[in-house]
Amino acid sequence: MQLNPRKYFRIFLLAGLVNLAAASAIDANTAELPDLGSPDLVLYDRSTEEKLGRAFVVSLHKGYNLFEDRDTNQYIRDLGHRIAGHTGTNRNFTFYVIDDLSINAFAGPNGVIGIHTGLIQAVRTEDELAAVIAHEISHVTQNHLSRRFDYANNHGNLNSLATIIAAVLIGMQNPDAGMATMMGGMGLNIQNQLKNSRIHEKEADSIGIKLLHQAGFDPHAMGDFFGRLSKASSINSFQTPEILRTHPISEKRLAEAENRARQLNKKEITKNSVDFALIKIKTAKNYETKVEMDRPLSKNERCYLLSHSETAKQTSKCLRQLAFEDNTTPIFFLEYLSKIEELTKHQRNRIDKRAHFLLELFPQNQSLLIGYANYLAEYETNLEAISILEQQQDMLLYQSNTHKRLSELYSKRKQSAHAYFYLAKANIEIGNLARAKHYLEQSKKAKYKADKRLSAKIASFEQKHRNLLIKKENNK
Ligand SMILES: [Zn+2]
Repeated sequence: MQLNPRKYFRIFLLAGLVNLAAASAIDANTAELPDLGSPDLVLYDRSTEEKLGRAFVVSLHKGYNLFEDRDTNQYIRDLGHRIAGHTGTNRNFTFYVIDDLSINAFAGPNGVIGIHTGLIQAVRTEDELAAVIAHEISHVTQNHLSRRFDYANNHGNLNSLATIIAAVLIGMQNPDAGMATMMGGMGLNIQNQLKNSRIHEKEADSIGIKLLHQAGFDPHAMGDFFGRLSKASSINSFQTPEILRTHPISEKRLAEAENRARQLNKKEITKNSVDFALIKIKTAKNYETKVEMDRPLSKNERCYLLSHSETAKQTSKCLRQLAFEDNTTPIFFLEYLSKIEELTKHQRNRIDKRAHFLLELFPQNQSLLIGYANYLAEYETNLEAISILEQQQDMLLYQSNTHKRLSELYSKRKQSAHAYFYLAKANIEIGNLARAKHYLEQSKKAKYKADKRLSAKIASFEQKHRNLLIKKENNK
């Protein structure tokens, strides 16, 4: 991604405010020391990590382009949580897709994992994508960031630290300009600390390969993908993929990954590569590039590719059929909903029936819920859209976009107390406490006294987030 000069300048200034003496006291070589300590020996506690994680998510939303496509987010999150489900920890994981063509993925503070769209384009199989996610998840479970990043010695404004961490992890298009140099000594220091050591890489590979295997993916995919990247970058050293800057690779590391995969029992590999192919088609279309996969597209996937093109204004016969008959993914149905025009009463009934069936089949699919609500708002009424969102929202792991949509729908109905309330909810999920507080106050100020249900909702929201809403975040 391209950072504008003004943004650099801001980061540079923020970094300058941090105690420079402390920054220079840390030898840059510290990052190269082997670290074999136990995962419990972390440099800061869980509550600091949570605060840093919230500030990190806020800086992702403010400073970077998050990939908006709902199906892609849903897919990456489903895949991520499916793998994270095998870690046996109570760690918190959240997955974000960054709209950036560099090949990169990262594990930020408090289990925030980012996947660049460039990575989705670069992997050739779902197993390779799963491998990178499993690798990042393992950096989280092994507390690699909190074992390397010396929070105490980088002590400063939490938000500016989070901004620098994001800048280093997400990287930039032109590495020669040197993001870290722009940020001064402090930035270089953090950059050195965030670069994983060989030992951490080995650990993330070995645990990640086990996770991959447990989640039903091909354990060889880790070595395959990193090996291919490393080969490509040795041919063209100007195009070192971003991911290799924070995850150093070596022949030894690849051989060890291959060995480890070979030791695991052969397992029936379970895949849903239909969604993978559809997401590849979506991201490729977004950048007008080719869909790179290790296999040809199936008949259904080709139907989707054609229906999804700019020229396909109306639904094709094959898409209509897939929308109502294919139960492997709701994406065909969503594509169909986005393309329909005039509808008869009979067609509407058919759509409602199908949507409810799919919502039962995919109860945690935010993309399906919002897609159907948008259809209701356009072809039925806003009230029906609100009703389905409110009924189903509690099933979802990620609710911020659902809350934003509810806020818009209430706002169209001129119910501002409700609209503000849902904005408060949307903001608390993405860590923006100041805004959440602001909107909550606005909601209470608006006239809602007659609405007992809303007062009860506000009261329970305040109770649930009492600690966050009352306490001031460490912003010194
Ligand atoms: Zn790594």
